[in-house]
Amino acid sequence: MQETSKKNLRRIKKELNINENKEVKIIGVTKNRTFEEIEKVLNKGLTDLGENRVQELLRKTEMFPTGVGWHFIGHLQRNKVKYVVRMPQLAMIHSVDSLRLAKKISQEAKRAKRVIPVLLQVNIAREEQKYGFLAQDLNRNLPELDELENIKIKGLMTMAPFVKDPEETRPFFADLRKLVEKIKEKNWQRIKMEELSMGMSQDYLVALEEGATIIRLGRILFSDEGGI
Ligand SMILES: *Cc1c(COP(=O)(O)O)cnc(C)c1O
Repeated sequence: MQETSKKNLRRIKKELNINENKEVKIIGVTKNRTFEEIEKVLNKGLTDLGENRVQELLRKTEMFPTGVGWHFIGHLQRNKVKYVVRMPQLAMIHSVDSLRLAKKISQEAKRAKRVIPVLLQVNIAREEQKYGFLAQDLNRNLPELDELENIKIKGLMTMAPFVKDPEETRPFFADLRKLVEKIKEKNWQRIKMEELSMGMSQDYLVALEEGATIIRLGRILFSDEGGI
């Protein structure tokens, strides 16, 4: 990494109260943000951005065509997979929430002659309104997921329940980390469990304490007071 971007990253971490020695990827979630707002956080040195809708992802990557790694973090419909996997700036899909979707991504990636880094989304608190594998279903699906050649499964992602006190999210983040450890015990051919994408504006400090390697921040980066 270049000296300036290292320095920028240290400054961003400081403003977010994150220990500067902590290895963590910070993703700026750009949903509902304007060109100017996004430009501002990029000027601060952020290198990774995330979107939860395909249409917006395509629109915003056109606004910022180079120098940014784009992450897809929302529910992905199978008929839209082909647009996402063909994006040159795509860094990772965080929200693979079913075996059918994983298969579709691998199939379209093969057509595009790519291998796409992905995370498996887990509905760790078993909330009815949320997408994601339930822990026990995930275990059952892992052998088939391990066979998919054109995706590279790199870890797990979750969204904690929305609660008043971020401390209440701790057990869910801890559960996700335990799940990662359990999956690692088996010798998978392709599946890796290196990344834990968990933590948003209200709970990222708790998520980091519980082992997050990627945090996805919207409001706190872009807040009305000018953000970080
Ligand atoms: C919107 C969103 C975020 C960021 O949420 P904030 O509370 O604004 O930090 C993170 N992850 C996902 C999947 C999102 O949809």
